[in-house]
Amino acid sequence: MKCGFCTFFCPVYQEELVESSVARGKIFLTRQILQNKQPLSKEIADIMGKCLLCKTCAINCPAKTKVDQVVVGARAQLVKERGLPLIKRVIFRNLMANRRLFGLSVKFASKLQRFLPQKPGKMKHLPDFLKALGKGRHIPEIAKTLLRDQVKEVNPPTDSKQPRMRVGFFMGCATDFIFPEIGLRTIDFLTKRGIEVIVPKTQTCCGAAVYFSGDLKTGRMLAYQNINAFKNVDYVVSSCATCSSSLKDYQTYLPDNDEQKQIFEEFSKKIKDITEFIVDVMKIPMEELKLRQDFKGKTATWHDPCHLVRYQNIRNQPRQILQSLPGLKYVEMPAADRCCGMGGSFSIDHYELTQKIADKKLDSVKSTKADIVVTACPGCIVNLADNLQRREMTQKVCHLMDLLE
Ligand code: SF4
Ligand code: SF4
Repeated sequence: MKCGFCTFFCPVYQEELVESSVARGKIFLTRQILQNKQPLSKEIADIMGKCLLCKTCAINCPAKTKVDQVVVGARAQLVKERGLPLIKRVIFRNLMANRRLFGLSVKFASKLQRFLPQKPGKMKHLPDFLKALGKGRHIPEIAKTLLRDQVKEVNPPTDSKQPRMRVGFFMGCATDFIFPEIGLRTIDFLTKRGIEVIVPKTQTCCGAAVYFSGDLKTGRMLAYQNINAFKNVDYVVSSCATCSSSLKDYQTYLPDNDEQKQIFEEFSKKIKDITEFIVDVMKIPMEELKLRQDFKGKTATWHDPCHLVRYQNIRNQPRQILQSLPGLKYVEMPAADRCCGMGGSFSIDHYELTQKIADKKLDSVKSTKADIVVTACPGCIVNLADNLQRREMTQKVCHLMDLLE
């Protein structure tokens, strides 16, 4: 089918109006490659890189084409034949694959960040000479103490009673290094409700950035480390939508044989995003949820992370929570599930496109007159906060767990 329905939905195509940006063009090129009519050239690598993997095309495609899997498959083939770009090779295989070294590097970077110009809040301003990371981008500060250094491995229920459940907390890189308070609030929320929370020190990066770039080999290595780290728990919960989605999706992108497929499928059954865990597993009566004092009287709107709404089909749960919080006014923004333009390394390689895509999201935010934009993915938080500052908008971005007592 070449209906072109995806052109109505693809955020990249809508900015560029170029066939190679959209699913139809990418699928056509992939077929050409498979038929040996097109070499795996640098040009193809650039085209396959220019995709947010937001899955909007796949969800709306009448033929149910798994566009995300086509793009990741093409990237994997590019990595096999052309290798990874040097910078990604060093970061994925030398840093992200070695959690201790990664942590040490981040701590070192946290010492250097004081040389960057300070912006309001916990943001820094990247000078123009750091073009590779985006011109003049605002980036959040690296935490003074990483989450893993603040939290114990075993966190019993606060009432000291027999735990009703034993849950592993998957922190993910952004929560560990930049937003430890989100992790601390999530652990606190769970332990206050009779759950024992295990935070294994041996857990590592979820692997999303790695395997979505086509490095399936390193992705598998990270997957096995995480599976081994979370052997003895009932569930694995994450407050990062990209992490919960990526852990569930090891089975989709990574298996090399049937045995691996079975292992990844088993693991995915344990994974829950915190939003679905609160509503569907803990089944907390919504009237029991309390809003933190700082947010009383505020108006909030919700941004759906792609990895929550399209990858995990989690749409109602966060809205149910927000709409039930006494003292908070909830306003739905137009096109709340539109991608914010982050797309992992997409926003580094195509920062100007990211800004244009984010502008549409921020126009939606503005129309609600909300004081805060709430979401559940640290990647979206970083991107929204950067673009809100660029546009000198006053809204704050928060994680859903920031709001809950
Ligand atoms: S990817 Fe789906 S929506 Fe796009 S042209 Fe093909 S069939 Fe149509
Ligand atoms: S995944 Fe998103 S960015 Fe990529 S082709 Fe589909 S709609 Fe466009």
